[in-house]
Amino acid sequence: MIDLRSDTVTQPTPEMRAAMAQARVGDDVFGEDPTVSELEERTAEILGKEVSVYVPSGTMSNQVGIRCHTQVGDEIFCDVTAHTYYYETGAPAALSGVMVRLLPGVRGIFTGQDVKAALRPRDDHFPCTTLVCVENTHNRGGGSIWPIQRIEEVHDAARAAGLSLHLDGARLWNASVATGIGEDEYAGYFDSVSVCFSKGLGAPVGSVLAGSAEFIERARRFRKMFGGAMRQVGIIAAGALYALEHHRDRLVEDHANAKKLASAIAELPSIELDVDEVETNIICFRVTGMPAVDLVGRLKKDGVWVRAIGEDVIRAVTNLMVSDSDIDRAIKAFRQVLGGAA
Ligand SMILES: *Cc1c(COP(=O)(O)O)cnc(C)c1O
Repeated sequence: MIDLRSDTVTQPTPEMRAAMAQARVGDDVFGEDPTVSELEERTAEILGKEVSVYVPSGTMSNQVGIRCHTQVGDEIFCDVTAHTYYYETGAPAALSGVMVRLLPGVRGIFTGQDVKAALRPRDDHFPCTTLVCVENTHNRGGGSIWPIQRIEEVHDAARAAGLSLHLDGARLWNASVATGIGEDEYAGYFDSVSVCFSKGLGAPVGSVLAGSAEFIERARRFRKMFGGAMRQVGIIAAGALYALEHHRDRLVEDHANAKKLASAIAELPSIELDVDEVETNIICFRVTGMPAVDLVGRLKKDGVWVRAIGEDVIRAVTNLMVSDSDIDRAIKAFRQVLGGAA
């Protein structure tokens, strides 16, 4: 089975497992796990932030970030399809007591003008708006990359209004590999940055939230409150550390595989896909003439596993477990199922 449902389906490689087996560990709640400390220091360094904190998931990372930036009753801005809003169980309301104001982005990318237009004056009728969240690359946007000028524009609009900025960089690694713009340059526009090790990088568990020393001190407190402080967690942090050092550069392969698959299936009947929109490792396309779930079922019988993310929208995500020859097989399966030229 060629599993293209997500880049979360990856298994740790033998080398990664060896690094995990040999990891030095300690009680991280006491601050005594050397592997976690190394991961936190190394990640902060790559992101150009003072410090960082290891958490079990990207959801916790984002939500601890939002909790740190806001007070109950505040309003935060994010794109209408942002992971923090769309896929995190209503956590901003449940855990931080904030309202989410949705900005009308295109493929997850909004403008400085969108921020300005959503702002309201300070007045007793209105909530306090305190935070803007940006997601780069954008998951439901089809792995879209925020142009750096757009980030700067949103940053300037947010700062002018006294708002903080949080970056959901679950796939920031993919953006950097695709553009050559360093993770630290992207991160420089944000007060806090969340990155995932369990997506494209292929580690089994974990994310990191990075920011100033003062911010992360507060974040550690909320990590504990949300139940995310762990003990001899170096055993999994070692996988994340291995992935950070060895699996970032290879993301170019995932991007090339995504382009190749997208270019081939864009030619097929019943598929609407703009190959230029495939910028990283995520392919989103529209299916015509049958429900998306039907095509998913037919492809699965032919050994290719993709995911319906809407009635007529399918997502395929290239990842560490999918080789160049797997992509050739996947293309063949698509052609068989949809009856394009063999
Ligand atoms: C996967 C993902 C997360 C976090 O997901 P977890 O499953 O909680 O680790 C956050 N943001 C984006 C954009 C994601 O794709």
